Amino acid sequence: MRVLNAEIVECGRCARLRDYCAEVARVRRRAYADWEYWGRPVPSFGDEHARVLALGLAPGAHGSNRTGRPFTGDGSGDFLFPVLHEAGFASKAKAVSRDDGMKLSGLWIGAIVRCAPPGNKPTPEEQRNCSAWIDREMKLLKDLRVVVCLGRIAFDGLLAWAQRSGLLGSRSGLVFAHGAEYTLPGGLIVIASYHPSLQNTNTGKLTRPMFLAVFERARALAKLK
Ligand code: SF4
Repeated sequence: MRVLNAEIVECGRCARLRDYCAEVARVRRRAYADWEYWGRPVPSFGDEHARVLALGLAPGAHGSNRTGRPFTGDGSGDFLFPVLHEAGFASKAKAVSRDDGMKLSGLWIGAIVRCAPPGNKPTPEEQRNCSAWIDREMKLLKDLRVVVCLGRIAFDGLLAWAQRSGLLGSRSGLVFAHGAEYTLPGGLIVIASYHPSLQNTNTGKLTRPMFLAVFERARALAKLK
């Protein structure tokens, strides 16, 4: 996994995204003027023996693209990590930097796209480019039992992986809805969740009890104590 993450960080397949991330890192947001932005593809993070994978969409321009760790340093992470902490997956409730001492237990956090896209909207081609990394990552997560897909794009990306890998023939009947659960051939369980974006959490579309229930369910399905 360390080798894979090192390769991801050096990836340059999507010129548009690499240029955008570098430009965001150069200009920076005034509130983070003292930061040296990461500005590169963001590697996954967590417990290599995880039974649960939390799969996001892509790094935030001033969150992961700044800190270099998924869901670290932005509003989505500020909503996610307290829930992961309460559900027993994260050692701390607040993620601020790669050096904050955060440890995950039983959980791996990845993403469909590893570079921050303008407007949080990667193109289909960029999603296809990045799919090679999830294909390799899934092979390395040998204890995996449950995938929590954070948002519709992550859900679609996970099903696309299942089709590429030969696990799944048709997607028929597999519909994104918050809290929906599906068992893929072979036994991997997929849980769909709304993404913890500010757009969803500020409007109450996704509440903390709803989100906690997803991760408590994932924990139970993964038979984690
Ligand atoms: S989005 Fe993925 S494939 Fe594209 S440059 Fe970043 S890491 Fe590489």
